[in-house]
Amino acid sequence: MFAEGSHTFTDIAKYLHKFELGRKNGKPLHINEIRQILSNKFYVGIMFYNGEYHDGNHKSFVSKELFQKVQEEMQRRSKHFKKSYHFPFLGLARCSECGAAITAEQHIKFYKTTNRKVTYVYYRCTKKLGPCSQTPITNFEMEEQLRKVVSDVVLPQSWADQWLKFLERDELVEKQSSGTTIQNLKTEIQDLDRKQNTLLDSYLDSVVDPETYKSKKNEMFETKLKLQEEIVKVEETGSSWLEPMRNFVNCALQAQKIARAKNNCEELAFFAKRVGSNFFLSNRQLSAEHKKGFAALRAGGGARSASTDSIDFSLLVA
Ligand SMILES: [Zn+2]
Repeated sequence: MFAEGSHTFTDIAKYLHKFELGRKNGKPLHINEIRQILSNKFYVGIMFYNGEYHDGNHKSFVSKELFQKVQEEMQRRSKHFKKSYHFPFLGLARCSECGAAITAEQHIKFYKTTNRKVTYVYYRCTKKLGPCSQTPITNFEMEEQLRKVVSDVVLPQSWADQWLKFLERDELVEKQSSGTTIQNLKTEIQDLDRKQNTLLDSYLDSVVDPETYKSKKNEMFETKLKLQEEIVKVEETGSSWLEPMRNFVNCALQAQKIARAKNNCEELAFFAKRVGSNFFLSNRQLSAEHKKGFAALRAGGGARSASTDSIDFSLLVA
């Protein structure tokens, strides 16, 4: 009935509800659930398993042709949804005066003289937590201020090049030193194995009594365990800070491009959340806290004033 185009998702939910097919609490299914059921390939006998589709052996509810028709109908309908405006900065900030969430809304204004419709988008305090005097901010103001947050962490290419070079050098040194440590530990284990053999020989030759043999053997066993643990530790922690550091440098480099690009509000919002937190709107001004590392970059005045040496690397690992 859906494929014919005459019924809505809600109709289907009501229909299923009549036959007592619904949620556990007896309520009808939500339209999103219906949408999910309609796009679930399981019902036509195709199972999604291990990241792949397989022909299932269970009896199909619907034919593949009907399934195909339903998918086409859903696509046709989703086109209508895409027309409505999407708010990229929704859920990003809170109101600094009352602490309520910032919501978005659009107003469509019709201009008779030019016969044109213009859509205005605002972000404003929901005022759900009580009285609040804050006024709305336009999406353009919001976007501009967010670009400022992102561009504040900009890392000049020359810095990045130098940092990445330092990183490579440190990585090499670290690998060499941890390699040496591991080699030494392995040698100790080999020594221990030899001693264990000697102990066993002495025991078999009745040079050592069973009690001494047992306690000595246990002692050696414990030492060996500790050495093995040590190896794993060195292997794991050896260069664990290098990867986050490299990610950080690349992220800060990207900031420049993202702050400058046009028509990238989605990306801008995503990136702003990566470099900052605690976004607040106060008198139509957006404020944010830069995350660890990015805050240090910002304190450095972007790089324009300070020298590379003044940045503490340990601070920068986010
Ligand atoms: Zn408020």
